[in-house]
Amino acid sequence: MKSTGRFTSELLRLRNQSYDTCRKCGATLPKGVAAYAGYSSEGSPLYVGECCLASVSELASHVYWWWESDKRVDPNTVLWRYVDFAKFVSLLEERSLHFARADQLEDPFEAASGSVDNRSRWDAHYLEFFRNAIRTVPGRQEPASEEDVEKEAQRLLREFSEGAELDRKRLFVSCWHANAGESEALWRLYCSPPSPGVAIQTRADYLLDAIGDAPIELGKVLYVDFRTGFAGVHERIFTKRKSLNHEAEVRLVLRKWTKDPGLGVSVPADLGRLITAVVPSPFAPTWFGSLVEKTLSRYNVNANVRRSELLAEPFF
Ligand SMILES: [Zn+2]
Repeated sequence: MKSTGRFTSELLRLRNQSYDTCRKCGATLPKGVAAYAGYSSEGSPLYVGECCLASVSELASHVYWWWESDKRVDPNTVLWRYVDFAKFVSLLEERSLHFARADQLEDPFEAASGSVDNRSRWDAHYLEFFRNAIRTVPGRQEPASEEDVEKEAQRLLREFSEGAELDRKRLFVSCWHANAGESEALWRLYCSPPSPGVAIQTRADYLLDAIGDAPIELGKVLYVDFRTGFAGVHERIFTKRKSLNHEAEVRLVLRKWTKDPGLGVSVPADLGRLITAVVPSPFAPTWFGSLVEKTLSRYNVNANVRRSELLAEPFF
């Protein structure tokens, strides 16, 4: 079956949520065998293995799912975004989520392949990979000279790395923190006193619901020890340094292939669906809580304003 490459946002999400599972019969797919993403004859999205291939009437793409790591987020996962008051008001005013371009984020390792200390190991691996590919091009009549192989492999490696660098200007990210409760560390990090802020609470499925059918991927960030490891080629934008794993990040990623995509992208969001609660900073003065409430009602957003759990009092 020829693949059409057509991905609706629904199919994109189904693929992201399925990984190694056939969504028709529930079977766990064997590693090394591609899954099929496509549509039934009625046009509903499908993600299946060989077991249920017969139900696919349009194939969008084969999915070599084991090339990637499992970034699935349970739909019930509680997510938070800690923001200062200005960003909170901007969310209400714009009714949009702001996606920052990867190279504009604070972490210099955004979308990086690894640490420069290990670059020679990475380069050596891919050079060897490219050399082999060039030597074994199907249909080649006579063997390429070693000199040509080397030149071509070096060129491919250069392009590979330039492409990765360019990705930093084509990928846009909205960052969330997965946690059943609040995090004192994140309160201090993102709403450091005295500047008051809020934590916006949602859930993974509400977040996707709120942004409708925009072609956006949701995934868990993988934390990798870059002293010894690298980011997978297919998931650099979902990989961060292990030293940041307290962020327990879940992110939305948007790809833009236009020539001049700007520094950020606004994606309209239904705030009523998005926000399950707003928690004013525990470090803010008491009047701040009622300001948050008034601001929400001024923007006609009906959200529950809750006292920070950090303000709970002990007994002895
Ligand atoms: Zn199946």
